[in-house]
Amino acid sequence: MDHPENDTRYTGLSVNSGVAQPPSVNPYLKRHKRKPLPAPSELVEGIVKGDVTTLARAVTLVESLQPAHQAVAQEVIEKCLPHSGNSRRIGITGVPGAGKSTSIDVFGMHVLEHGGKLAVLAIDPSSERTKGSILGDKTRMEKLSQQADAFIRPSPSAGSLGGVARKTRETIVLCEAAGYDTIFVETVGVGQSEIAVHSMVDFFLLIQLAGTGDELQGIKRGIMEMADGIAINKADGDNIDRARLAQAQFRNALHLFPPTASGWMPEVLCYSGYYALGIDELWDMIDRYFAFVKENGYFERRRREQSRYWMFETINEQLRNHFYSNPEIEAMLKVGERRVLNNEISSFIAARDVIDYYFKTKF
Ligand code: GDP
Repeated sequence: MDHPENDTRYTGLSVNSGVAQPPSVNPYLKRHKRKPLPAPSELVEGIVKGDVTTLARAVTLVESLQPAHQAVAQEVIEKCLPHSGNSRRIGITGVPGAGKSTSIDVFGMHVLEHGGKLAVLAIDPSSERTKGSILGDKTRMEKLSQQADAFIRPSPSAGSLGGVARKTRETIVLCEAAGYDTIFVETVGVGQSEIAVHSMVDFFLLIQLAGTGDELQGIKRGIMEMADGIAINKADGDNIDRARLAQAQFRNALHLFPPTASGWMPEVLCYSGYYALGIDELWDMIDRYFAFVKENGYFERRRREQSRYWMFETINEQLRNHFYSNPEIEAMLKVGERRVLNNEISSFIAARDVIDYYFKTKF
């Protein structure tokens, strides 16, 4: 028999008999009844008692995007506020590899050994665009993650950086109400996430490395200006001399900066997170800072300023969400965007048209 491809009517197309596809929903799956949402007062009661499971549950509601969860979360936050505020909020930043997790593990154990209760939160700026994570998961803090008095929570993942930061700020309130007297907020970023963390902490620690030869070039001036303390990590072994040199360079550089609003002169210290060297000195600096700003009233002033900042941040975020999540606006934006890219209309006209429509329609 001739080969089928030699037939002039052969097109190469044929339909094979296939295998029936399974349904995309498992027909045997029993529908689970959703657990009813806990009453806010129940959650608050558990949190104030220091119950970790309840705290974790409430934080999950804070992080949720569902309106019903948000409603409960907001009520819980409101009721926890009178129990909050009584903690030291410490921001910690540094480039990946600077030794943040190693250090937080050691700093955290230091806090616990002195009778404290510690919450470690994080703001991961990479979650905004890629839903990825620079900070990784918190099991990196090996010792701390096994301690009953340490509550470790990774960065909220969904939404804009502003949204993520707001959720972390709300989580601080819940942790404080649950009796955590030291709060670490870790971040890594290129400026924006440091601003967010700086706006919710009392003390901002910058972890730096020595030995790259361009210590001062590689770091954004803005981040250095925010720091209340600079800690040069990995001051161990052959690296000690280089760490000391970097310390001197940072000290000189800080002298050129304008005085800080707190009146505190930021200090530069060397330490080793890995070998737990210089930790007492570092903590002594932080103690002195808190004594200083509580004495001169800056502590209270900064917290009040931060509350005001978050009021406006929350308004901005919600207005932005309301605008961008509207399907009609979304469709208009797509058209406007294309016309601007094709040089058919100016960006200002395109923006005005959408904004006018938004305000006139009063969604
Ligand atoms: P992160 O990305 O900032 O969280 O950094 P890690 O804590 O994961 O540390 C990055 C690497 O530096 C790891 O291999 C650590 O073991 C190492 N490291 C951290 N602290 C020190 C230190 O004090 N001395 C030395 N020699 N290595 C350290």
